[in-house]
Parts: sequence; structure tokens; C-alpha cells
Amino acid sequence: MVEAELLFKDLTSYLKADDVSRLQRAYAFSEAAHHGQFRKSGEPYISHPLAVAKILAQWHLDPQALTAALLHDVMEDTAVTKEEIAESFGRSVAELVDGVSKIDAIEFQSKEDFQAENFRKMLLAMARDVRVILIKLADRLHNMRTMQVMDPVRKKRIARETLDIYAPIANRLGLNSIYQELEDLSFRYLHPTRYRVLAKALKTSRGNRREVVGKVLDAIIARLKEAGIDASVTGREKHLHSIYNKMLEKQLSFAQVQDIYGFRVIVSDVPACYVALGALHGLYKPFPGKFKDYIAIPKANGYQSLHTTLFGPFGMPLEVQIRTREMHKIAEAGVASHWLYKTSDADLNELQQKTHQWLQSLLELQTTSGTAVEFLEHLKVDLFPDEVYVFTPKGKIMALPRGATAVDFAYFVHTDIGNRAIAVKINDELMPLRTELKNGDRVDIITAVQARPNPAWLNFVATARARAQIRHFLKTMQLEESVHLGERLLNQALATLKGSPAEIDAESWDKFLRESGAKSRAELHADIGLGKRLAAVVAASLLQRAGSAPSGEQIPGTIVIRGTEGMAAQLARCCNPIPGDPVIGLVSKGQGIVIHTQDCPVIRKSRHESDRWVDVQWDDKTRRAFLVSIRLSVANERGVLARVAGGIAEAGSNIDNVSVEQSDSSAYSTMNFTLQVTNRFHLAQIMKRLRLIPEVVRIVRVKGQPKEREQ
Ligand code: MN
Repeated sequence: MVEAELLFKDLTSYLKADDVSRLQRAYAFSEAAHHGQFRKSGEPYISHPLAVAKILAQWHLDPQALTAALLHDVMEDTAVTKEEIAESFGRSVAELVDGVSKIDAIEFQSKEDFQAENFRKMLLAMARDVRVILIKLADRLHNMRTMQVMDPVRKKRIARETLDIYAPIANRLGLNSIYQELEDLSFRYLHPTRYRVLAKALKTSRGNRREVVGKVLDAIIARLKEAGIDASVTGREKHLHSIYNKMLEKQLSFAQVQDIYGFRVIVSDVPACYVALGALHGLYKPFPGKFKDYIAIPKANGYQSLHTTLFGPFGMPLEVQIRTREMHKIAEAGVASHWLYKTSDADLNELQQKTHQWLQSLLELQTTSGTAVEFLEHLKVDLFPDEVYVFTPKGKIMALPRGATAVDFAYFVHTDIGNRAIAVKINDELMPLRTELKNGDRVDIITAVQARPNPAWLNFVATARARAQIRHFLKTMQLEESVHLGERLLNQALATLKGSPAEIDAESWDKFLRESGAKSRAELHADIGLGKRLAAVVAASLLQRAGSAPSGEQIPGTIVIRGTEGMAAQLARCCNPIPGDPVIGLVSKGQGIVIHTQDCPVIRKSRHESDRWVDVQWDDKTRRAFLVSIRLSVANERGVLARVAGGIAEAGSNIDNVSVEQSDSSAYSTMNFTLQVTNRFHLAQIMKRLRLIPEVVRIVRVKGQPKEREQ
């Protein structure tokens, strides 16, 4: 083919003879593979990959990328496999071709904006190697250039996809000329009439403007010369689609948009940019507030320039961009500028490094850990290292954190889907729910109505959302079970006391709930089920309030405890109750009533002698100090004990006793305090205050034997 010969001749300008002959071999391979296939236009299919390679050659892309461009459709359209490509042309080329084929395999369906953004990210993430994207963009550009022969519906669909997905990617990568051409071609196929009208209007206005533009150019060039600046100055036009957009967005007529004249000044270095700016502001008055310094603060895609708008002759606005040659290269070719302008002796590593730096600044990525070398290997750049993009069965794209499993996905779709998940199909294949998802996976969760989350899922889910939902479900389930158990235990206890649930009227229930501090019967049942209250105690109190305390049993009325009763009522040493704790009295021979917390093990042990129990409650007004023990785990830092002691004092408490134990690890130690508190609320305040101390990692109340006081 003549075109092929021309390309290979061109390539000798920047490639070695060896590389060119390898490319000729790739061409022959591709031509043979596509033999007998034709494009819609009737040309042999090979003309397409050849044209794609030619576009990439304009950027001076490396031989691997050009080889991959020549082969980019063989895996999809012919029987050639990745392995065969790897054997004949090397692993890197095979990976590039595979990357392009994978992108081709996905179809963009949704019309929603945020879906388009996700889709763009997914493509970039899937590509990993920026050359895959460059090949794909060149492929799309050539297809758009040769789309005339397609049917109108298809034309529109492809044009829409180009406008939504590929043009923004080209823009993001700074590939300005491709970006503009893709937008203009899409515009042409989406709105053929508008395109024609605008194109014609632009042609006419170009003729009308020529004289004005020429005059202004001369004036600018003369002034810069006076200032001693070596510059090249050109007039500049907007591309059609951006004129159209401006008309739409700002509600302007074509004439209004065209009223603005654009000029570009290219100088040798950064100081010259600012000198040129000063000179031009001396020539024409600048518009206030229109000056932008993208040299000091570059745009996100790496673009740098000075922008200013001037009042030109007759007051017409002149938009001027001033930049260095380096900045201009990047403004025009973006990420490809590193291939395009690489000096002959620069090795590939330097190129990789530059490209990588560029992409990093472009996408504002944080390098994940690992060395620079790992990053640069094979130009692989993980553009979105923290995310993975997958499809729902309906084609919606979801972004999940990297490492997310099918269970995470299920909970992202809907809590119910997560709670009822039993299996998953990934790309139509049945897989375990713990499977980690990859970019582009189509994930279909299979649910069953009676299914419940498995606690084992907590071992592998990667998202906080799934974790929280699973925990929440398990907790709710546990609570329900506790309520049932508690109710059964209470009924049993009532029966033991020869009572029955029917005997307790609503009024007695309300009264009991009020006094016990429980919010509802369910909460009370749950407390019993979880062992926080004793069924027998509750049963006895209820029966007593219902006025049906079984005769003969010794159940005295509620005793109010102030903590000052002396021998008649002592506070148990085992659990150290303080006002606010749910308590119960236990009648002990020779000791009177001993007050325990309701969850004290001693009480639990005495459940078969519930006739020894006495219903007690705290006197609200009691203000004396009670002893309580707390245990703290603290990081070993200088002065930490003083800080803790200070915190306790600040919270209005006195320390009765303190001991410090060194733990196994030298980084932490355990502190035991016996404190004086007025009640449970006071204790909570102290603990809250201590949690503010950074070294304190854990605080618990100890309900065991406190350290004996020295009397
Ligand atoms: Mn193609």
C-alpha cells in the first residue's frame, strides 16, 4: 500500500532502521490477519490501523505503541490471540493491544452526567498505561473522520459517546488539537444543520476580520520589538464547538462571540512573558479584572500561560495569551508532548519519568507507597489507585474503593441486597461473595428472602459502609433474640413466685418502668435476656406493685439507700455500686442488707435464694462521696500520670488510691485509680474528661475488689 510506504519513510526521521523494519513486519502481520475484511467505505480494513499509527507517529510515539496501533483490532476482529502477539512482538505490545481491546469491549450506555465522569475514570483506570489511551483516542479520531458512510442513528450514537467520553479525556490529557477535532466532528454529526450554518458564518467572518487582525498583529509585533522581546505572534480562532457552546451558555449571538479577537504571543522564557505583558498593557488598555496568571498557578491539566484582555482599536476586545515555547508545546500536545519533543539521546526512562510527573500533576495524585522505579515500570501509571469501577446488571457504573468485594458492592447497591445476598455472578460466572472486584466487572448479586448476613463477612469486607450495615443487622438480630429470651425468663420467674404475667396491669408496668429507668417493656426484656437485670428481681417487684405479692414470702417494700445506713445497709465491696447503678439488696446473716449492682456475679449466684433479695433504690438527694475503681491503659509518655491526676481533679474528684502496673509492652502501662464520686453521672464526666488526654487509650470501670484503704 502506498500509504504504508509513506508512513515508514516518515518514521525514519525519528526511528532507527531496526525499529522501522519491525513495524513493517507488524504491518504485514496485521494485513494478513485482516485479509478479506473491508471497512464500510469499501477500503481494505488495514487502512484503518495504518491511519491510527500515522496519527500516533505525529506525536513521535515509541515503536511499541506504533506496533500496537497497527495490531489494535486483530484480537477483536480476527483469530489472533494475545499469546501470539506476545510471541511475535513482545509482551509490552501484547499488553497494549489487550488494553485497547478491553476498552473496546465496554459499551457506554447511560446518559447521566456523573455516569459519564465515572466512565471516563474507568477507562483511564483500566488503561493503566497512558499509551493505551493515546491509541484509543487516535482510533476514535480516525473513525470519526471517516464516519460519513454510517447510518444516521449510529453516527449520532458514536458522536454523543465521543463528546461525552473521549473528547473530555483528550482535554484532560492536554491533547488540545485532538480534543478540538473530536468536538467539532461530534458537533457536525449531532447537529448537522447548526454545524453547516456556523461553519459558513465563520468562513465569512474570517474574511471580514482579516484586515483588522492584520493591523493589530503589526501593532503588537512593533511594540514587542521596541521592548526588545523576540516573539512570534499569531492570530487565533476558537473551534466551532466552543463557539457554539459559548453561544448556548452565555446566550450570545454569533456576532457577539466573534466580536472577540484572539492573539497568541510566544516568547523565549518566563521573564519575557511578563515583560511582553507590560509592553502590551502599554499599547492597549487592559480590561480590569480580566488578567489571569496561569504561569504562577497552572491549570489542573498542566496548562500555563498569561491571559489578558485588552481594549483594541475602536474598543474591540482582544484576548491575548502569552507563553514560552515549552508551555506552548504542552498546551498543544499535553501528555504526548514528551514523546513529541524528546531529544534523540533521551532514554525511555527519562521519558517515562517526565510523563509520569506530568500525569501526577495533572491528576493531582498522591503517590502510594513504593519506589519511583515500581511506578515507572513499563510506563504503567495507575491513574486512580484507590478506586475500582464496576457495572450493575442494568449497566450503571459504581465506583468502589479498591479491594472491595461482592459483599461491599451488594451493600452499596442497597442495604437489603446486602442483607439478603447469598451468591454473586461476576461476568456471568458464579463466584464466592468474598471475591475482590476488578475494573469493568459486571456484578449481579443473587439474593434470597430469608437470607441473613453472615458474621464471617466482617473478616473480608473492605468498606466501612458494608461493615456498619452487617454489624447493625447482627446487633438488631441479637437484640430481638434477647427480648424473646428475656420475656421467657421473666414469665418463668413470675411462675416461680406463683404469679403470672396476666396479673400485672398496665399501671403497675408503667410504675415499674418509671422507677427502673427502662424505656419500654422490650428494653426491660432485652436487659433480662442480656443478663443486665435479674428476672427474679423484676418479677418480684412487678408482683409487689400489682398488689399480688405472694403471701408468706418476705418481700419488703423498697428501701431507699443513702449510703449512710451504716451496718444496716452496706455497699458491696465486690461491685462497688454508686448512685445511678441499678441495685439490689441481699440480706446476709449478721451483715444486714448488702447493696450490690444488679449485674454483680454474687447476685447471680444467689438466684435460687431470691427470698433473700430486697428491692432497693437510691435516694436522689444523696451527696456523699462513693468509692469507685477505674483502670486506664496509657501510652508511656513523660508526665502522663500528672496529666491524668490533673484531669481527675479538674472533673471535681479526689483520688483515694492509685497504682501503676507495667504491662508486657514497654509502650503502655496500666493505671488503677480508686476515686471518690457522687454518682454514675459524675463518674461518666470524669471518664469523658480523661478520654481527652491523648495518651489515654482505654478506660474501664472496675467492678471488682477495690484496693483496701489504709485505715
Ligand atoms: Mn479500531
